[in-house]
Amino acid sequence: MKIILTGDRPTGKLHLGHFVGSLRERVKLQNSGEFDKIFIMIADAQALTDHADNPEKVRENIFNVALDYLSVGLDPKKSTLFIQSQIAELFELTAYYLNVVTVSRLERNPTVKNEIAQKNFETSIPAGFLCYPVSQAADITAFDANIVPVGEDQIPMLEQTREIVRKINDIYGEVLVEPDILLPKNQICRRLPGIDGKAKMSKTLGNCIYLSDDSKILAEKIKNMYTDPLHIKVSDPGHIEGNVVFTYLDAFCEDKKIVDDMKEHYQRGGLGDVKVKKFLLEVLENILSPIRQRRADYEKNPDEVLKILREGTENARQKASEVLKRLKRAMKINYFD
Ligand code: ATP
Ligand code: MG
Repeated sequence: MKIILTGDRPTGKLHLGHFVGSLRERVKLQNSGEFDKIFIMIADAQALTDHADNPEKVRENIFNVALDYLSVGLDPKKSTLFIQSQIAELFELTAYYLNVVTVSRLERNPTVKNEIAQKNFETSIPAGFLCYPVSQAADITAFDANIVPVGEDQIPMLEQTREIVRKINDIYGEVLVEPDILLPKNQICRRLPGIDGKAKMSKTLGNCIYLSDDSKILAEKIKNMYTDPLHIKVSDPGHIEGNVVFTYLDAFCEDKKIVDDMKEHYQRGGLGDVKVKKFLLEVLENILSPIRQRRADYEKNPDEVLKILREGTENARQKASEVLKRLKRAMKINYFD
């Protein structure tokens, strides 16, 4: 069996980082027909681990993320779209997994460490937040997923999941499936930088181009994008390292030859930022306009979107409950069977 699980936190609309890091890959995998099951989760419970005081934001973004999913081409006939918090089994699994994870192991997770610094939690880290990688292990294993297509920031999460799986299997017998991470082949797509040149495009950092941005906003964001601060006159030789406009061309432009020629010209001098940005706008418009179109269609039909999520969630719950039963049997806590 080949089973995929992946997902996103409903803390905002999805952006180009999600697109190249995971969404685009998911759609390809979905349409390859090679997978027995594809589960796509809106991780609202995980979002609440650092938004406990802002449930409205999470609630509102469930719909946004669902629209983003449908608009990039995830097809509810082929992929199961569901909402994490509505599957109680996931939290039961988490509780048992927490017993095989040490606090110091949780504190060592580099992605979580980074996020703690970014969010200025200092010594007030919500316990749920520190433990979210364990809940992620539950999300993945609850569906017997063996493939998890995600961006680079998820490498430590997958490592931690695999450790948990091995420990549980060691103690209780082969009961869980050990998953593999699937990173985008293109290195740049594993961690797309923000439009400000910062290492990662992220909702938290507010440096995103959203899939739902209209043409005008897109043009504005590209216009203000970070390039080469030393490239002042058009005739000056420019640098492409750390120049986000070129990074995005590498991530999004199919025609590598054009990009290589532009890079060469830019480095030689004589190619202005305005021209390069205009080309990037064209490339991104071509990708985003069909996405916007599909979004607009679904936006008119919120009941349909809700129905997709309800049915997906019911479907996902069945699978999770089978896996939970299997684990409880292995743990010999199935007293009433
Ligand atoms: P938040 O700031 O709320 O954590 P986020 O922008 O980091 O939001 P997530 O929902 O945490 O987004 O990430 C969902 C998925 O998208 C993960 O698989 C993650 O690896 C991928 N992803 C997010 N940002 C990027 C990026 N800039 N480049 C590549 N992949 C990304
Ligand atoms: Mg994140």
